[in-house]
Amino acid sequence: MSLDIQQITVPFVPGTTVNCYLVKSSDAFVLVDTGPARQRAYIQSALQKAGCRPDNFKLIVLTHGDFDHCGNAAFLAKTYKVPIAMHTADLGMVKDGNMLAGRKQPNIVMKTLIRSLMRLSRINRFTPDIFIKEGDSLAEHGFDAEVIEIPGHSSGSVGLLTQQGELLCGDLLGNTKKPDLWSIMDDVDTAKASLRKLAGHAIKKVYPGHGQPFNMEYFWDNYSY
Ligand SMILES: [Zn+2]
Repeated sequence: MSLDIQQITVPFVPGTTVNCYLVKSSDAFVLVDTGPARQRAYIQSALQKAGCRPDNFKLIVLTHGDFDHCGNAAFLAKTYKVPIAMHTADLGMVKDGNMLAGRKQPNIVMKTLIRSLMRLSRINRFTPDIFIKEGDSLAEHGFDAEVIEIPGHSSGSVGLLTQQGELLCGDLLGNTKKPDLWSIMDDVDTAKASLRKLAGHAIKKVYPGHGQPFNMEYFWDNYSY
């Protein structure tokens, strides 16, 4: 079954963007990541333009628990009556709004900064309806993709790999300047282990959380790990 992956590039802090991906198969829509809460109108209008409605919007999948990816999940879930799926290891981030939950604890300055600036406000916190793990298929929800656990950016980071070799990788990889490990990494060794794991899969094209999609072959040719 062929899938149409529409990239929705949402403005984030000035000069930066974050991607959501709207996956369409026959008449079902699945949204991967939801953007930051302050860009609610932007994502809502993109969904509307694409023809996404409560009757054909089947699932919200979150690649990880960060506020710039999960900011509209609770709102959209309620508005469209659609379930939210994510990995249980990032539950603390979305349930308590604390982006340090499940992550290594940085120094006190970073900790205070992250706590105050990078949070999910109370109204946008939620408990997911579905917990996804390694090897799960999302086919029953209208998205023929397999879940691959790729921790490193966060403990509960997942990639979604389609039958055609398209990988939605969240924030393990990014491509704002060139395809690379994303610049914000909680545990670099774990991230590199996740990359080695990806090397065992047939991946053609990568759709990152930040920046433009790229060919995986180009990445392997230019990255040593
Ligand atoms: Zn992130």
